[in-house]
Amino acid sequence: MIPFDFDYFKPSAAEEAVRLYQTLREQGKRPVYFAGGTEIITLGRLNRIDTEAVIDIKGIEECQTLRLDSDDLVMGSAVTLSRLQESGFFPLLSQTVSEIADHTARNKITLGGNLCGRIYYRETALPLLLSDTEMVVAGPSGRRRVPLNSAFDGCPRLADGEFVLQLITPSVFLGLPYYTVKIRRQWEVGYPLITVAALKRAGQIRAAFSGVCLFPFRSERIEEILNDGGIEKGARVAEAVRHLPGPVSEDVEGSPDYRLYRLKNALLDVMQALKGEEHARS
Ligand SMILES: Cc1cc2nc3c(=O)[nH]c(=O)nc-3n(C[C@H](O)[C@H](O)[C@H](O)COP(=O)(O)OP(=O)(O)OC[C@H]3O[C@@H](n4cnc5c(N)ncnc54)[C@H](O)[C@@H]3O)c2cc1C
Repeated sequence: MIPFDFDYFKPSAAEEAVRLYQTLREQGKRPVYFAGGTEIITLGRLNRIDTEAVIDIKGIEECQTLRLDSDDLVMGSAVTLSRLQESGFFPLLSQTVSEIADHTARNKITLGGNLCGRIYYRETALPLLLSDTEMVVAGPSGRRRVPLNSAFDGCPRLADGEFVLQLITPSVFLGLPYYTVKIRRQWEVGYPLITVAALKRAGQIRAAFSGVCLFPFRSERIEEILNDGGIEKGARVAEAVRHLPGPVSEDVEGSPDYRLYRLKNALLDVMQALKGEEHARS
């Protein structure tokens, strides 16, 4: 049971959702946008979230879009992980989401909820960061479309009252050669010890990570090192892990040393798997 009362709103347009948010703020309330609700309900039960009003964005048609155009894949933020997985439009993303939670939870969890939630793994960010995905944001100042890479600090940077409406991935990235691995300490379902996702574009490996630090990230410096053909692979990996953007995580999944050990092996696997893979898979 959630130990507090709250109002529930389900607008059918983005602008209506934003207006509602502003009105509720003016009334001194702390509204939250609500998508799959898995995290809000879990944290609500634990008294770690307190709100007087939730604004459910699932009734907004643009948030439910899942469409492959000639140039882009357009993904609404309220599309569930199951729908993304089953669509198969973006194989790296499909594989990544297939490893998040279990089937029942994936029927609820949404793309935007995973990206913007407090639970810091946010594994859906990895394929999106690698593929020059743009984010459409709705908010009090209207709409803006920005490269996710330039508006991502472990999660999308959003101003008060803004929410993610859609994610748009250029279709040239969808069929590129990729490699991804999620390593868990135990069990087959659960949070990652580390997750590494990589793809190769124009002969260059791009790589993004979850579980390694307390936020998911892509690092151009690490990519430069991994792509430096003048250095032996083991030395590249040793150098790459010296450029992590934060301290290595320590939790029940594993110690920093164990994470680093598994990360180094995963990076060797990335290089091996993408060796010679220069052309897109069709
Ligand atoms: C059983 C289970 C296992 C899990 N395992 C993993 C895992 O292995 N890896 C992993 O990465 N995650 C994992 N998670 C975390 C999970 O992915 C997130 O907690 C969940 O995705 C939240 O999605 P939701 O749609 O239910 O969001 P909600 O609960 O609706 O919202 C979560 C937060 O995001 C905000 N939000 C939602 N949508 C938007 C939007 N469009 N724009 C702006 N803000 C928004 C909400 O305001 C709220 O603060 C797991 C969760 C469960 C329940």
